[in-house]
Amino acid sequence: MALSPIPPGEASAGLCAKSRRNILQARASASVLNFLALLVASRRSVDESNHEQGEDPLNDVIIIGSGCAGLTAAIYAGRANLKPIVIDGFEPGGQLSLTTMVENFPGFPDGILGPDLIENMRKQAQRFGADFKAGAITDVDLSKRPFKIATGKEVFETRALIIASGASARMIGLESERKLVGYGVSTCATCDGYFFRGKEIAVVGGGDTAMEEANFLSKFASRVTVLHRRPEFRASKIMVDRARGNEKIRLVTPVVVEDISDVAKGGVENVRLRNTQTNEITNLAVEGVFVAIGHEPNTKSYRGQLDMDENGYLITHDGSQTNVPGVFAAGDVQDHHYRQAVTAAGSGCMAAIDAEKFLDARKDV
Ligand code: NAP
Repeated sequence: MALSPIPPGEASAGLCAKSRRNILQARASASVLNFLALLVASRRSVDESNHEQGEDPLNDVIIIGSGCAGLTAAIYAGRANLKPIVIDGFEPGGQLSLTTMVENFPGFPDGILGPDLIENMRKQAQRFGADFKAGAITDVDLSKRPFKIATGKEVFETRALIIASGASARMIGLESERKLVGYGVSTCATCDGYFFRGKEIAVVGGGDTAMEEANFLSKFASRVTVLHRRPEFRASKIMVDRARGNEKIRLVTPVVVEDISDVAKGGVENVRLRNTQTNEITNLAVEGVFVAIGHEPNTKSYRGQLDMDENGYLITHDGSQTNVPGVFAAGDVQDHHYRQAVTAAGSGCMAAIDAEKFLDARKDV
């Protein structure tokens, strides 16, 4: 998804300090809210239901995930009068909510802030009757219809289910990395490479993605340094050879990134590296860091119930259908290839249309 940093040179033109502060504050509040939601969520089994609370728990469509795919599904399902329930998930708003400027979503010639785009989609879905529930999935039962979905606090029943729980980019795990996401640290070269024209950048990782991103980024950057923790690359030989043959790319091993600075200045200036064999510490001056150490689809809750590939991505067929009739998947949870906001939105639309057709054909449950 589009994670757009604000390199120092473009900061004042692209985004005022107040907006940047608002995004950081929104991010911090979202994290705190997520954390609190998880803390208070006393795990409840799907065997329980909300009948005892006097609620009718049966819904037409539940959408899990509130990123681009989930919100687009909610807009379409809402307009089809299906009164969708949207369960926000661990990262409300998905990866776009951690983004600054998005320049490649059609319809916004001057770009749009990721959180604003998400907020607009959310309002649009609400306008058509979508009902948002905070919290994350703790249990699902897809063995029969209606499906049962438990969040920490509630159990929902639904005739059709759209899973749009996304995939999370693996991160190195540094505090500085977390604080600089969207401010020079990115996980998407396609989305953000353009911002680094003429700049020196680093790519972390030794797999095919790291090589591919390095090649892509070399079109913009003045130099790309690939940083990998082992002397041998995991990437296929052809990809490594291509990177080696690119005069703008330099491969540095075996090093780990120990810190990214400068958080205080709100942008990337330098990475501190440790050689894993000699423990020697070196510094590399860069204006951007692309973390390319893999993604993890958020599919743990569906293991053993839905077909997945060897990396845990949901397998869909005939549009957005999973192996369980009535369960549909959209966005990065089933797409490890394109991973774009616009493709996620498109697949969310497909899932809602597929769910509507499925429900039309089955009036029984
Ligand atoms: P990957 O193959 O799992 O590689 C991840 C890389 O990141 C590995 O080199 C790993 O190091 C490193 N890494 C993992 N955790 C790390 C950490 N905490 N700190 C530092 N480094 C870390 O992931 P991927 O490159 O995203 O590829 C995923 C799949 O997509 C693969 O099957 C790949 O072949 C495929 N793919 C194919 C293409 C293509 O054919 N064009 C392009 C992209 C991806 P180690 O090697 O030491 O474990």
